[in-house]
Amino acid sequence: MVSLALALPAARSFLAMREPENIVPGEGVTRIGSLSDYFEGIKGTRGDTEVYFLEAERPGATILVLGGTHPNEPAAFISAVCLIEIARLAQGRLIVIPRANNSGFTHDDPQEGTPQYFTIPTARGERRFRYGSRCTNPVDQWPDPEVYLHYPSRQQLSGMETRNLNRAYPGRPNGTLTEKVAYAITEMMRQEAVNLGIDLHEASLEYPVINALVAHPLASDLAGEAVLYLQMEGLDYSLEPSPDNFRGLSHREWGDHLHIPAILMETANVVQGRYRGRTTPDLVLTGKDPFHYEAAQHSLLEVPYPEEGIPLRERVGRHIQGIRKIAEVWSANNPDNMIIIENVPEYDDMMDRGVGAFLH
Ligand SMILES: [Zn+2]
Repeated sequence: MVSLALALPAARSFLAMREPENIVPGEGVTRIGSLSDYFEGIKGTRGDTEVYFLEAERPGATILVLGGTHPNEPAAFISAVCLIEIARLAQGRLIVIPRANNSGFTHDDPQEGTPQYFTIPTARGERRFRYGSRCTNPVDQWPDPEVYLHYPSRQQLSGMETRNLNRAYPGRPNGTLTEKVAYAITEMMRQEAVNLGIDLHEASLEYPVINALVAHPLASDLAGEAVLYLQMEGLDYSLEPSPDNFRGLSHREWGDHLHIPAILMETANVVQGRYRGRTTPDLVLTGKDPFHYEAAQHSLLEVPYPEEGIPLRERVGRHIQGIRKIAEVWSANNPDNMIIIENVPEYDDMMDRGVGAFLH
């Protein structure tokens, strides 16, 4: 009886993680599709997910923004949600997939002690969002092999990486669920004639590639120019080339297989860091952790870490400012095929008013 009393709420809490929270499409959204529209093989699986279209009447370039490749990187997910809820297009098209690895949102990483949810205060009350896992849920894809062989390069990685969407590109239709999702995203980009792909991420503060734009060679000029503008605005960013011999990553394989410029963006997420103290839903928002501050005093982190932390608003502000700059540079260099994104906050605006001011 006692065990049943414990098991029932636990089961309810476990299963509740499978229900996606509401995203409220703003006026800018003209259409909502599904990833399975581009590859039937994921229909009815937890790999299927929404694809949001923000289209201007005036034709122009198409940019894809992915959030939730890694569902334990909240600024990437929330930046995508912000675009869906408030952005408008004056020219061209923005395609946004907020939960790229939808299955990864339905569980947590074992032994990490991460929160199941975090809440963002808005003028009309709190919005609750899932904090998920880096990888596809083992309920949806199991068992992991000893060694993950990336298709088609045959690069070897540890078995768990078989469930990492950002090691699965370009994907394949008869592979694992993660490979099928990667394949569906690649197919969507091909069928929608995407001109430029942006994959949003966060990383722990001891990871060397952080506050960075990682660019495929086809995107290096574009990303370099964007980094220059971001630095002129006081936002420190570095430009990193997409490694040639590290396969399966979005920017590498989108560039190689679709021949389009592709960029990955990284911000700093305290909740992923090894030095972190107690991990609470609040930490997701505040990014303020005395243990990280201590680590910074011993030069153990790769980014500056102030005592007041690195809050979600700063990270979402950076992502959105980065997307804005990339779109501006693209348009300046492609006057016949521009994209103009409006009604997204400037970085300072986001810092002043917080993420909740830019959600419905
Ligand atoms: Zn990531």
